Amino acid sequence: MVLSRAARIILVGAPGAGKGTQSERLMKRFPQLSSISSGDLLRTNVRNRTPLGIQAELKIKTGALVPDAMMVRLIINELSTRGWLVPDTIRPYSVNYATPEADIPADTVDDVFIPSTFPASRYNYSECPTASFILDGFPRTAPQAKQIDDIIPINLVVNIKTPASVILDRICNRLVHEPSGRVYNTTFNPPKVEGKDDVTGEPLTRRADDCPEVWGTRLKKFEETSAPLLEHYDKKGVLWEVEGNTSDEISPKLFKEFEKRFSV
Ligand code: ATP
Ligand code: MG
Repeated sequence: MVLSRAARIILVGAPGAGKGTQSERLMKRFPQLSSISSGDLLRTNVRNRTPLGIQAELKIKTGALVPDAMMVRLIINELSTRGWLVPDTIRPYSVNYATPEADIPADTVDDVFIPSTFPASRYNYSECPTASFILDGFPRTAPQAKQIDDIIPINLVVNIKTPASVILDRICNRLVHEPSGRVYNTTFNPPKVEGKDDVTGEPLTRRADDCPEVWGTRLKKFEETSAPLLEHYDKKGVLWEVEGNTSDEISPKLFKEFEKRFSV
C-alpha cells in the first residue's frame, strides 16, 4: 500500500500493549514507513556501553523513566542520522552522546543544555517533507512532546488500549531479537524455529524488565505520564484511539485508519 501523504506518527500504549508488533506490521503494509523505537535505541546504547546507555541502564532495569532531556537528545540524534532532520542546522545544540567514543563523564550527561523549544527555523524538516515514520515509545511525557512540537510536526497519535490483565499474561511469554527489536510470543506469535529469530536465525532473548514486578512499576509510570501526554495531542486534534485484546484485533483497525488518513 502506498502512502500519498507524509505520516509522522507516534504510538502510545501501556508497556507490552503491542507497539513494537504494530510498528512491524505497519512497515510491512506500508513499505515507505520506517520506525524508531525509543526502548530499542536505549537498549542498544546500554549494550554498547555509551555514556548515555550507562546512565539509562538502572532506570530501565527498575522500570523508571529515563530523563526527558536525555531522551530528546537521543531521538534528535537518531532523526538527524536518518536524514530526517538536517544535522548541520541542529549541530549547535547537539553533541552525540550515543556513541561509545563520546568523551563525556557520565554524570554530566543530564546537565546538557537543551533549549525549551528548538526554533523551527533551525531545523530543516522542509527538505524532507515526505519522510514518513513511526516513533514507538517517544514522546512518552508531556514535556518530551512539547520539546519536539516545533521540530517534528506529528500528524497522528495512536493510543493503543489493551486491558492490563491481558498484557500481563503475555509479557511473561515475550521473546525479542535484540539487534532488530523484532518481538515474538511463545504462545501466539512463536518464531519459526524455537528460540531463533525468523530473519537472521540469531538467538532470541528475554528483556530484563519483562518480569511481573518491574512491569508493574512500568505500568504505574505509564498511567501517570500518559494522561497529560494524550491531552497535549488531543488539544492539537491529532489523537486517535484503538482498542483490542490482541494485536490481531488491533491491526486491521489500524490499517483501515492509516489508509483513510494517508493513502487516499
Ligand atoms: P513495550 O516495548 O513492551 O511496549 P515499554 O513501552 O515499557 O513496553 P520500551 O518502550 O522498550 O518498553 O521502554 C523500555 C524502558 O526504556 C522504559 O521502561 C523506560 O525506562 C525507557 N524509555 C523508553 N522510552 C522512553 C521515553 N520516551 N522516556 C523515558 N524513558 C523511556
Ligand atoms: Mg516496545
